[in-house]
Amino acid sequence: MKKMLLALMVTGLLALSGCVPSQTQDEKITVITSLFPQYDFVRQIAQDKVNVRLLLPAGTEPHSFEPTPLDIVSIGNADIFIFTNELMEPWIVRVIENVKSDNLLIVDSSVGIELIDHFHEEDHEDEDDHEDEDEDHDELDPHIWLDPLNAKVMAQNILEALISVDPDNAVFYQNNANKLFEQLDELKAEYDEIFSDPTHKTIIYGGHFAFGYLAHRYGLEILSPYTGFSPNAEPTPQAIIELIERMKEADIKTIYYQELIDPKTARVIAEQTGAKMVLLHGAHNVTTQELQAGATYISIMRENAQKLLQGFKNE
Ligand SMILES: [Zn+2]
Repeated sequence: MKKMLLALMVTGLLALSGCVPSQTQDEKITVITSLFPQYDFVRQIAQDKVNVRLLLPAGTEPHSFEPTPLDIVSIGNADIFIFTNELMEPWIVRVIENVKSDNLLIVDSSVGIELIDHFHEEDHEDEDDHEDEDEDHDELDPHIWLDPLNAKVMAQNILEALISVDPDNAVFYQNNANKLFEQLDELKAEYDEIFSDPTHKTIIYGGHFAFGYLAHRYGLEILSPYTGFSPNAEPTPQAIIELIERMKEADIKTIYYQELIDPKTARVIAEQTGAKMVLLHGAHNVTTQELQAGATYISIMRENAQKLLQGFKNE
């Protein structure tokens, strides 16, 4: 208490004498990110040079998230706001309209990454087929970060944003980013190794369609009773029954489930098939416990790799 009083007095005296140091000179820059991967990359690259905050409260499922008016005020007061892409955070349009700040840099972390529509990939070759053009946009996959090479592009975008706002620390940021890039290369090598085995191609996933970019890179078949990207759209009983039959036929013993929502669909399938339920973490966001235990994007993705490998070994 004494210290606080003293601090108040000093501030008061400085204010009186007109010697208040310019606040922007000494204060760290503030970075706010929407999802966990960006938050983690800022932590790795900027470390103690910035104040970084994850907009989503720990444990919050991101697809149904909407920023509060207070969140929009916080974003307006930040120096950098990093979002995933307009499909993952459709509310970004409203944020850009409502934020009143000339100093804020808004960063789309997906710049340089081609968004993919996994459901109509072949259709694109057929130029005459314009029937479901509107639908196509809705089905572009927002989960870009689940491919380690996309994650590298995102980290590069974040690095450039940090350097442009805080050029004094450019060398520090670049050195840390280089270490992160190396780790992401190692992560990719780990996935390359697992999926180089041609029998490692089918994953049964009892969650929404989140791993499409990984599937695209390695030619995987991800079977899920969910048909889209929204965890809120419940699968049909028919889709669940078909998946159960497929698993029984192929004697598949692992059903993966997603983080942060009750895995009731995966549980039903596990009960019907005797398959083991294993978390395949989409890394959208983490729980408070995971955060405290030091989870990083890399640690989550490496754990996923080991679980996939284990699942393939059991088949
Ligand atoms: Zn998702």
